[in-house]
Amino acid sequence: MRKETWPGVIERYRAFLPVDAAMPIVSLGEGGTPLRHAPRLSSRVGADVYLKLEGSNPTGSFKDRGMTMAVSQAVAQGSRTIICASTGNTSASAAAYAAAAGIDAVVLIPSGHIALGKLAQALVYGARVIQIDGNFDEGLHLVRTLAESYPLTIVNSINPYRLQGQKTGAFEVIDELGFAPDAQFIPVGNAGNISAYWLGYREYYEAGFAQQLPKMYGVQAAGAAPIVTGAVVPQPETVATAIRIGNPASWSLALAARDESGGAITAVSDEEILQAYILLAREEAVFCEPASAASVAGLLKTPVSPGSSIVCVLTGNGLKDPDTAVSQVQVPKVVGTSMKEVAEAIGL
Ligand SMILES: *Cc1c(COP(=O)(O)O)cnc(C)c1O
Repeated sequence: MRKETWPGVIERYRAFLPVDAAMPIVSLGEGGTPLRHAPRLSSRVGADVYLKLEGSNPTGSFKDRGMTMAVSQAVAQGSRTIICASTGNTSASAAAYAAAAGIDAVVLIPSGHIALGKLAQALVYGARVIQIDGNFDEGLHLVRTLAESYPLTIVNSINPYRLQGQKTGAFEVIDELGFAPDAQFIPVGNAGNISAYWLGYREYYEAGFAQQLPKMYGVQAAGAAPIVTGAVVPQPETVATAIRIGNPASWSLALAARDESGGAITAVSDEEILQAYILLAREEAVFCEPASAASVAGLLKTPVSPGSSIVCVLTGNGLKDPDTAVSQVQVPKVVGTSMKEVAEAIGL
């Protein structure tokens, strides 16, 4: 007999999503990710900090929540090919869900600026990977233009089904805590996810599942902080490649989330990102992506109310970006095979 397993976010939250009964669902069991209390971080900031571990999704990032919606909808409409521009995780997710659906995925990635693990995923899942000699913003522009002339379904977060799926992250936070947190910190690249979480919090609040709404704190990398500076960044630069975006598609939605919630959008330097990245690994045993650590870097710079409840969304898995990982630690030296040499190397 086939046993009941975690059904993925569409089945779990069907009542809140734009799906009809006849829609075929393409799911990889996304969502249901851990919300873990972070004891050391909590005592550092004097509040109750929880980490939403989105790296536990099937392809290792939160993008899967939106992709199950976007690909299910694409298949329902008879689409045979999906397309996206990507800093990496969207392409990995699109490639996986296309494989599950038995359709094709085309992904445009900025040459030389995608983490190795993400490139590997897109290729192994069988997507057609096109490296462009340009950045994410240029890639997204190309995707929009191509989709006007060819039968391609865009699965970037400009596809409204993406945000619909991603809002389930907020539902899970409230379901798990039993209340909405006082504040949430989240990295901001194309600004889809902060907008989706705000949508989710509002919907659950209106449905009576929460008695308050969190203040939304978005965190950009200083070299790619258009929302903070108020101007498009033509050449965004940051170690956090997943948020290396100079002209976010959901800019105005992110401003609405900030202003309606009474939160803020701030910038953190690459150094602060990498410090938070190592701190998360050493003090909380979470290996996340550099972009994900931006949320904690933002928290560490923001005064918060003592004893308040705070959720940091850790958007992707650290294994995605092995090059940054090994660049931040000492490469172990090679020693001989005698016990003496090894004991000395250990420091015994
Ligand atoms: C996509 C992504 C982000 C940024 O999310 P937006 O919706 O583009 O703001 C942050 N972190 C990771 C790991 C991502 O994959």
